[in-house]
Amino acid sequence: MDRVKIVLKSGKEQSVKRYHPWLFSGAIKKMYGNPAEGDLVDVFDNKDNFLAVGHYQPGSIAVRILSFEQVNPDISFFRKRICKAVSYRKSIGITGNPDLNVYRLIHGEGDGLPGLIVDFYNGVAVIQMHSVGFYRIRKDIAELLVEILKDQIVAVYNKSEGTLPHMSGVEAVNEYLYGTSAPAVVTENGYRFKIDWTTGQKTGFFIDQRDNRKLLGKFTEGRSVLNMFGYTGGFSVYAMRNASAVHTVDSSFPAIELANENIRLNFGDDNRHESFQVDAFDYLNDIKNKYDLIILDPPAFAKHNNVLANALQGYKRLNMKAIEQIKPGGIIFTFSCSQVVTKENFKKSVFAAAANTGRNVRILYQMSQPPDHPVNIYHPESEYLKGLVIYVE
Ligand code: SAH
Repeated sequence: MDRVKIVLKSGKEQSVKRYHPWLFSGAIKKMYGNPAEGDLVDVFDNKDNFLAVGHYQPGSIAVRILSFEQVNPDISFFRKRICKAVSYRKSIGITGNPDLNVYRLIHGEGDGLPGLIVDFYNGVAVIQMHSVGFYRIRKDIAELLVEILKDQIVAVYNKSEGTLPHMSGVEAVNEYLYGTSAPAVVTENGYRFKIDWTTGQKTGFFIDQRDNRKLLGKFTEGRSVLNMFGYTGGFSVYAMRNASAVHTVDSSFPAIELANENIRLNFGDDNRHESFQVDAFDYLNDIKNKYDLIILDPPAFAKHNNVLANALQGYKRLNMKAIEQIKPGGIIFTFSCSQVVTKENFKKSVFAAAANTGRNVRILYQMSQPPDHPVNIYHPESEYLKGLVIYVE
């Protein structure tokens, strides 16, 4: 089948020439045909030079680019890209490590597969598709994963309900595409976590915080720790190794239950841990001098640029409450996972929060996402997770 040809306005080819994997609709001069959402389309500049091939979608991001070469993105193309993602993770020591069987296998743009996320949970691959182009070929993708990972795979679960662009006419359903599996217990840096991808948030676990949880473990000895927005209790489990007390706060009841279960899985019934189902901002109203270490890992405050200012205010307010009240010599791990909030903007929010309290604050570490969530250098938007470790005098 002939692919629809898209021609760009003069000058609008620059970002494609710099390998940015998203083509915005404003750059388009003319479409020679009427592509359906998810169709492969070819992109040309105004002088009829080929630029790229990718998945079409109506909306602000019009094309998610798969290749800047004139190729046919067929099964063997996707096989090669998935193999590259797998061998990359092997070469940097993510896979083949007995203490780690939970990681991101495919990170969209970071792995040259914009719109496709695959997380690996000790034998179960959980797929999230963010484009109709990938959703259409979900069965092929599942088959390729089984073919490439062979006996390492027991099941492939598609969890794309709610992740396709909301304008698309496609109603995605969650379903097993290969095998089935009960919730799994996975190992991360030697700690165990129960993961239920069918009911959990995202694909079931916030894998992207792995290195930051490990870093936290350096600072917990003898300290009283508050883990705000705890979800599965990831940070709490690491803190429990040697903290004097660990409190997990989350507004969701299932999250609190999961956190309790994961603490039990690693430490049995240990009364150093307590959990509270309450709104974070309410809880933070009254914690003066109670904690030596606070983790702030809220959900994305901004999903779109038009709410950026409100989000930055939110980060400022949250961090101010923690900086104001933490014990002298306390440490705060503070994060933002909003894609539209840059590292600089986030740092400014924390700076403004600190300035309002008047306390002396030092930055110990600047955190990001681990290498199984690689940042495509041509796509700054893939760098979504940022965090600071600060010391409050
Ligand atoms: N730190 C976690 C991930 C946090 S996800 C980890 O390492 O796995 C964000 C969590 O914040 C969710 O579990 C959600 O239920 C919780 N949450 C969202 N809004 C909240 C609020 N206002 N108060 C308390 N918890 C909230």
